[in-house]
Amino acid sequence: MKSLLIKGNFISAPALGKLEILENGYLLTEDGVIKALFDKLPEQYSNIETDDYSGMLIMQSFCDMHLHAPQYPMLGMGMDLPLLEWLNTYTFKTEARFSDERYAREVYHALAQDLISRGTTRVVMFSSIHPKATLILMEELENAGVTGFVGKVNMDRNGGADLQETAVSSIRDTIYWLDECSRFKNVKPIITPRFTPSCSDGLMEELGKIASARGLNIQSHLSENLSEMEWVKSLRPDCSGYWQSYAKHGMWKDGTIMAHCVHCDDKELAAIKDAGVTVAHCADSNIDLCSGVAPVRKMLDMGIKVVLGSDIAGGAELSMTDVITKTIRASKIKRIESGWQTDFLSVAEAYYLGTTAAHLYFGDKPGFAPGNKLHAVVIDDSSLCTPRKLSLRERFERCLYISEKENIAAVYSNGVKCR
Ligand SMILES: [Zn+2]
Repeated sequence: MKSLLIKGNFISAPALGKLEILENGYLLTEDGVIKALFDKLPEQYSNIETDDYSGMLIMQSFCDMHLHAPQYPMLGMGMDLPLLEWLNTYTFKTEARFSDERYAREVYHALAQDLISRGTTRVVMFSSIHPKATLILMEELENAGVTGFVGKVNMDRNGGADLQETAVSSIRDTIYWLDECSRFKNVKPIITPRFTPSCSDGLMEELGKIASARGLNIQSHLSENLSEMEWVKSLRPDCSGYWQSYAKHGMWKDGTIMAHCVHCDDKELAAIKDAGVTVAHCADSNIDLCSGVAPVRKMLDMGIKVVLGSDIAGGAELSMTDVITKTIRASKIKRIESGWQTDFLSVAEAYYLGTTAAHLYFGDKPGFAPGNKLHAVVIDDSSLCTPRKLSLRERFERCLYISEKENIAAVYSNGVKCR
């Protein structure tokens, strides 16, 4: 058994809106599992190996709970179209290139390094329809130390000439991919129908059966954009709500994660709450694609589980610090829209959504709780201009708003130091 002490200023989110700040503290791990936090080091631990980050901020690492790996090459481009036109004009063409395994290796290696060096240690991620490229993605993530869920995308309609499966080939490739996934330790498969317009009823039905037979979670998109929702209505006249196009096929349950939920009506929100479905809120993407601003405060008040996603490349920011502050800004737009009736999200609340809320999805306890594998990011903010002495709380807020990748001094993922 290997014991390790980590020394520095610890900031974690034990509950929504709460921060736990420990100045000059120590965190003890055994084999990468958190054992205790101390404000003063007990004598018996004085000779243990120590990673000393005195003066720096040690935060919980970030979780990106919705992003599209094969859209990484178009990050920061193609921002001139709304969702459906954007998919057909830019996105499907970009994803189609991942039939080339060498290209996939090159792009996914870079993405995995970019994620871990920004302190993102857990993801729930879409790949493309290609099973081999999806396995390459999982391998690159695992090698870099990024953990979580990755899904081979399923789509048997409306994908265009270059990015389309048949229901039969989609299921065949999914089974092949799932059988190959057993070799990964920390990156697991998740069933991933792209969204209802991409999947026939028959394909949805088969995917629901596979998910339940193998005990797999499901990710997809829901009520992102008004044109998309109209389209779903015409494709699924048998469903009174968009959510039913998933629920009817056994995909509506605890562990299911639905991106966006910008325009859910009260019935759909109630269905999300009742089933324990998690909402992946992607503020930057929702604004970039002119979709709208999701009612996050309302969801939280209802007790819905909300986590955050970069949704690259609909979103243009891979850093979760940027995603967290964009989430706060979007909630302020909601406040303005509502005639100041809706409270915006505090820094502590948005940090919770980008960290603890998502770590809970993976089975952790809140904050730096004993029993959790260590997922942490160390931020050295000494290069940021400091005209007066700042409190740890002020430094924490400033790090979320203006720190850069270069300020990240170390990253621990799943108990292991990766950076
Ligand atoms: Zn998405």
